[in-house]
Amino acid sequence: MRVALASLQHETNTYCPGRTRLSDFQIARGPEIAPRAKGTRTALGGWVAGLDQIGAELVGLVAAGATPSGVIEGDAYRALCGELEVALARAGRIDAVALALHGAAVAEDVDDVEADWCERIRAHVGADVPLLATFDLHGNVSAAGLASIDLPFPCREYPHVDTFERGVEAARALPALRARVIRPVTHVERLPMLLPPATTRSGPAARVNALCAEQRARPGVLGCSFFHGFPYADVPLAGASIVASADGDPELARDAARAVASFVWEQREAFRPATLSCVEAVARARALPGGPIVIHETCDNPGGGAPGDGTHLLRAMLEAGLDRACFGCIADPEAARTAHARGVGTKLALALGGKSDGLHGAPLHVRAEVTALSNGRFSPRALLAGVELDLGPMARLRIGGIDVLVSSRRQQTFDDEVFRSHGIDVRRMKIVGLKSAHHFRAGFEGLASAIVTADGPGLTTQRIEVFPRERTPRPIWPLDPEATWSARARP
Ligand SMILES: [Zn+2]
Repeated sequence: MRVALASLQHETNTYCPGRTRLSDFQIARGPEIAPRAKGTRTALGGWVAGLDQIGAELVGLVAAGATPSGVIEGDAYRALCGELEVALARAGRIDAVALALHGAAVAEDVDDVEADWCERIRAHVGADVPLLATFDLHGNVSAAGLASIDLPFPCREYPHVDTFERGVEAARALPALRARVIRPVTHVERLPMLLPPATTRSGPAARVNALCAEQRARPGVLGCSFFHGFPYADVPLAGASIVASADGDPELARDAARAVASFVWEQREAFRPATLSCVEAVARARALPGGPIVIHETCDNPGGGAPGDGTHLLRAMLEAGLDRACFGCIADPEAARTAHARGVGTKLALALGGKSDGLHGAPLHVRAEVTALSNGRFSPRALLAGVELDLGPMARLRIGGIDVLVSSRRQQTFDDEVFRSHGIDVRRMKIVGLKSAHHFRAGFEGLASAIVTADGPGLTTQRIEVFPRERTPRPIWPLDPEATWSARARP
């Protein structure tokens, strides 16, 4: 079986001021794709492993991904589509198509990038070639958008620790699909609901996952997953959905999706986040016994499109006069460059962070000692293990009693590897400040004595009701109290 493999992964925060350009994408082409993905804990890594297990011949098309950011420039998207179509034309006979997608990519003039991408592939390969795709659970999806796909494999966990497994599972489904042993039909039950970031490790999203697992155990059900949706996008598709697939039985798929959707809708108030300001979070962490206590700044999460140079939490930590504390990372290429130019052991007066915009906090005017420098390259050990991150030139600065990591590129913190690679043992710290919504949990839950969420103004604040909406369907929870949904009222 010759299986074509392609990937397009971007989480588009439509509130980001700039556009995402072609140069923001990392692109692998043709035979480059498999060796780069092999051995990584990613959906593409899972696809490569799974296709190997089923003995398929892998034909790499194009794999493009960018850090979450603003709407994809029209020319950039057309260039990516052009690459896909050239690769398809060169691929020769294709027996199946394997895709690693996100689900929340938006380009100028194209609201549902993944649907457009799949339609292009379907138009090339025809109706009879199986087309399977993995997704991120933050996809804003619709029935029309998934119509070109035979079977979707969304990741189920947030932190997304199961993307590799979904890729393997998708590959293993290919032979049965190709032999027409299974004939999947998929139902998408959209809820009028914008979900603030919700971990699946505890709370209502964990209970939803348990219900999805119950549905998947029903005979004939091939898949059932909760797409949380991506709330930082003002698009007609914004919102949460339950997506269920069944073998030749549309009513079963619909019933499975609605059973879970009913629970999500009834429990929606449990998804309303209760968070502290950065100042309150620091006070809370100081009052807690033991350590290390992780404070995560959720409002400036580069993993959701925020600039990563915000100063709300770091300012609160500095003003509290903490010692035995560290913070990582604040993105400031200018400060990193200065530290590299001056060298370890020098003392600097710096304006640190807060340079992207006025929303995420003003620059911090600090005196700092340069205590370590690096090239910013390391591999995470928990989420995305096997992937090499490149944060550009980095510096460890001592500011007051706090060790602060400055990166040249924005990046949320997945685990303590970035601290270790700069000589910081977080286990010896009382307080660890970082930028992330939930992915950090995969790396820190085992070593943090407590986790405190800090929120404030920012492009990824949990207060999703503060964003202006022109294109999001209304009414929608939690913006509009009159939003309603009922399985019984639906056809
Ligand atoms: Zn996600």
